[in-house]
Amino acid sequence: MSSQQQQQVREWSGINTFAPATQTKLLELLGKLKQEDVNSLTILVMGKGGVGKSSTVNSIIGERVVAISPFQSEGQRPVMVSRARAGFTLNIIDTPGLIEGGYINDTALDIIKRFLLDKTIDVLLYVDRLDAYRVDSLDKVVAKAITDSFGKGIWNKAIIALTHAQFSPPDALAYDEFFSKRSEALLQIIKPGAYLKKDAAQASAIPVVLIENSGRCNKNETDEKVLPSGIAWIPHLVQTITEIALNKSESIFVDKNLIEGPNPNQRGKLWIPVIFALQFLFIMNIEALIKNDVANEKKPSWETRDVGVQKETREGGQKNTRKEKRGAGVRK
Ligand code: GDP
Ligand code: MG
Repeated sequence: MSSQQQQQVREWSGINTFAPATQTKLLELLGKLKQEDVNSLTILVMGKGGVGKSSTVNSIIGERVVAISPFQSEGQRPVMVSRARAGFTLNIIDTPGLIEGGYINDTALDIIKRFLLDKTIDVLLYVDRLDAYRVDSLDKVVAKAITDSFGKGIWNKAIIALTHAQFSPPDALAYDEFFSKRSEALLQIIKPGAYLKKDAAQASAIPVVLIENSGRCNKNETDEKVLPSGIAWIPHLVQTITEIALNKSESIFVDKNLIEGPNPNQRGKLWIPVIFALQFLFIMNIEALIKNDVANEKKPSWETRDVGVQKETREGGQKNTRKEKRGAGVRK
């Protein structure tokens, strides 16, 4: 981050609105990051429209910093919110939905990529809803768009966040069972879009966390916001963010090449025109050889055979004849 940006960073005072137990856990996690020399983190929030991306940003910051809307499609521009606390800076980038009206929003994707130029993504928060029963091809398209934009390494830095987590599963399904089925279904559809087919271990390593942004989220005896599972979700989310930030995989630096260059997963395909050109030259060469061959073999084949026979009788050996015939093509 440039010093100019650093000056503009406001104090992360929203933490004070959390339950004391939640505050303590968060400050502990920030301390752990600083211990590992991580003094700032940038979280990129992506997903379809209306799934709760902006609400999640507000929940983490503890302030209403970005607009949320149940109906309208969101603004087209990403927004970065930065907050500092105890020498640590958190940057969260809220983005417009990648799916609008059943199609991938290429304009939004392009604007997001340009907005991210020269920034480093430490964590990708891929947001969707827990209370959805079906995954469809659009989920696959979104995952693929993310992979094509930032490279498949982005999934080593990803967390799947499922909103609307205070919810009763249908058909008397147990909450945990519904959660694991929903997670599995999402991972299965993200895998091919993320080119993770052959790398199932990596896919199952993508953590799935639950989020409840509603003001009516249940609280436990220490006033922490909890899910039906009893987990205080804000500390759990921040803990998962910490683990991803500290894992061995590199953060994703968004440079010009990543934005304007070819698909980072298909750079090998750059060789295709070169290989094509080499093949062309090779074919030309063979063609020349064949032409040469034809030029040297003007006589009809019976005549050549005749010559062969003559030679054979003259030189008295099959070997020489074969040699001569073979050599004809190479000779000028
Ligand atoms: P975005 O388009 O992905 O940024 O989604 P928003 O954050 O604007 O949320 C869309 C709608 O879903 C808003 O009406 C939010 O109040 C609502 N919403 C978001 N997250 C949750 C959640 O976890 N629980 C509930 N009950 N509603 C949510
Ligand atoms: Mg939004």
